[in-house]
Amino acid sequence: MCIRSFTSAILTVQCQMVIDKRSERYGRACSGLDRTSAVTEGFNTPPDFQSEIAVNEPCGMIPFINYRKLKASLVVALLMALAACGRQPSLQMEFVLGTLCRINLYEKGDKQLYSRIFARIREVDRTMTVYPGEFEALINGTEIVDPDSKSAAMFRSVTETLTSGVAAINRQAGLEPVKVRADVLEVLEQALYYAELSDGAFDPTVGPLVQLWGIGTDTQRIPADEEIAAALELVNWRDVMIDREAGTAFLRREGMALDLGAIAKGYAGDEAMRIAREAKVKRAIFDLGGNIAALGWRERKKKEVLLWRIGIQNPLNERGVYMGIVPVHDTSVVTSGVYERYFESGGKRYHHILSTTNGYPVDNGLLSVTIITDSSTVADALSTAVFALGFRHGKALLDSIPNTEAIFIFDDRSVRITGGLAGIFKITDGDFLIQE
Ligand code: ADP
Ligand code: MG
Repeated sequence: MCIRSFTSAILTVQCQMVIDKRSERYGRACSGLDRTSAVTEGFNTPPDFQSEIAVNEPCGMIPFINYRKLKASLVVALLMALAACGRQPSLQMEFVLGTLCRINLYEKGDKQLYSRIFARIREVDRTMTVYPGEFEALINGTEIVDPDSKSAAMFRSVTETLTSGVAAINRQAGLEPVKVRADVLEVLEQALYYAELSDGAFDPTVGPLVQLWGIGTDTQRIPADEEIAAALELVNWRDVMIDREAGTAFLRREGMALDLGAIAKGYAGDEAMRIAREAKVKRAIFDLGGNIAALGWRERKKKEVLLWRIGIQNPLNERGVYMGIVPVHDTSVVTSGVYERYFESGGKRYHHILSTTNGYPVDNGLLSVTIITDSSTVADALSTAVFALGFRHGKALLDSIPNTEAIFIFDDRSVRITGGLAGIFKITDGDFLIQE
């Protein structure tokens, strides 16, 4: 059999998550947040998870995989794993979606289930990518000798995701509708919904602008005004045509390009969670490069319930340094910020959330927006949408959406939170201050 291994670029490591048992106790919990107990003690101990982790490379552009950076990340990941290795391996990590994804299924963490979940995440990655080159390189030159083999099935799956995914829609922009997979239509429809809701501040057709700036890639630069104007001309979510019955998607004008980087990681998180739930997993944490989904409670005994404690990245410090902790259960915590992917020029920072109004990185005093809500897809879309809208409009949008909370961090270190987080979200770094 002459098959190249698809997994050669992927290093999977297993280790045990170190859990601090001295956590504080909580009372009754609702809507993913604990609203009753005083969550004061125990905040000297670090959180269980952080909305960003130290080994995470700048992420957000789902499709872009920099293999040089990938190698560096894997080395760090491996070191982390070795340091934490215990008798019962539980946490699994993999570099996928352009970032380090860490999943802990705790007592239900058997190998097969992890592999199913990571396989699905990789599939979402290939399906939603706008840079299929890396994946094409994996299958190019592959010769199928035994069509019934596992490798042949994987080959077909990779090929299928590339021909009926987002990259295929982009290739046919202005030419013809493309029959795509159901999951692509699902995510695209959600993206268009949030585009409408945010009046285009969040726009999945931002592709030409993202490519022009190339933030986080080797080609990043400040484009000329005319280039920005030309790219902006091609950004308009209203020009995406979806035909549900035919199962097709179409970009009306040539040169248009979808970029689902602001929502696909969230969708992958929901898919991972779905598979775990179906396998009757009661508690788990999915950390897809800082997009966190928490399943169940951290611990649930007869008389006590412990929630997960998620650390919120300090946007002014290095990765892994948190500025506050939010206790949650059964919910997603997703952050969009200026520190995710950026370059600096002339003392100014150019980050990866772009304004669909002026074509420049959004500059509105916000450093980050964290959204806490059930669905990871929604949290991901909203974190970008609300960041792009700015505090006033973003908050107004959130006020219209039930069971959704947010943490806004501004460049003067002031913090604003939505009502549901009052008394729940705790700042652990005195440099930050919650403003009423
Ligand atoms: P991350 O994925 O790093 O957590 P986000 O979810 O905020 O960050 O997504 C940022 C990514 O979304 C960018 O890298 C780009 O691919 C895309 N993007 C940038 N600006 C917009 C926008 N205004 N609307 C929709 N997507 C955007
Ligand atoms: Mg997002």
